[in-house]
Amino acid sequence: TLISGMEVETAPNVSYADIGGLELQKTLLREAAELPLLKPDLFAKVGIEPPKGVLLVGPPGTGKTLLAKAVSHETNAAFIRVVGSELVQKYIGEGARLVRELFALARDKAPAIIFIDEIDAIGSSRSNDAYSAGDHEVNRTLMQLLSELDGFNTRGNVKIIAATNRMDILDQALLRPGRFDRIIEFPLPDEAGRAMILAIHTKNMHLAKSVSLEKIAAETPNMNGSELMAICVEAGMNAVRNGRTRVSGEDFAKAIEAVRKGRTEKIMPLP
Ligand code: ATP
Repeated sequence: TLISGMEVETAPNVSYADIGGLELQKTLLREAAELPLLKPDLFAKVGIEPPKGVLLVGPPGTGKTLLAKAVSHETNAAFIRVVGSELVQKYIGEGARLVRELFALARDKAPAIIFIDEIDAIGSSRSNDAYSAGDHEVNRTLMQLLSELDGFNTRGNVKIIAATNRMDILDQALLRPGRFDRIIEFPLPDEAGRAMILAIHTKNMHLAKSVSLEKIAAETPNMNGSELMAICVEAGMNAVRNGRTRVSGEDFAKAIEAVRKGRTEKIMPLP
């Protein structure tokens, strides 16, 4: 379903086993978002408030959305996703109203997880000292978000997770206690992590015996999960193009080159 810029999914089909590496991140997010949904009484008995909002910080394609979806799957909660830049750009004049509707929708669908991607687009510290119309809109949206967060019951069955890759420009107001008071960092995968991600994305592929995922992992420094997935798909495509059913090491070598090339083309200015 798509309600004016909000995507709602009921218990998305992503489990923790679909996520390679990120063991610490899994543990921390489960503790902050899953446990309060599944065992709220535990927090009550201990006498502490569960965390209110969790902020996932890290470069694009590192599994932030994926892990938030897995929590929602595991808790059987609706997954409501909005993108910060869409809230303030696509629907100018409507950002604040959409934020209000977002929280109302979550209460209605509860148990629910609200996932705000690119939260820096709403909560950027740069917009505070600027006066253009666009920035005014961003501010109004941020004010509404802060007010929803403050009025929000931590013991309820709605959890809020946000993601950003621009922690440096994030408005400090969002990070105050009782708002996004948990921060989980998502690094690029290391070599072992890359091998695990490759294993997940080749799970259903017919690989030649000579294909070594460890070797591919060693040859893909600085690649994120999203690029590793693209390499697997592209390698499969290479086999299909040549009418083969078994994916070879050569198919992967070409795929690595293609994804690398795509990446430089993306960051290079147009001629
Ligand atoms: P963005 O900041 O661009 O929203 P993100 O961190 O939310 O990025 P995801 O949407 O979670 O990134 O990842 C994109 C895709 O990359 C996933 O759908 C998945 O296929 C793949 N991927 C990323 N990280 C992993 C991982 N750790 N294990 C398995 N697949 C991964």
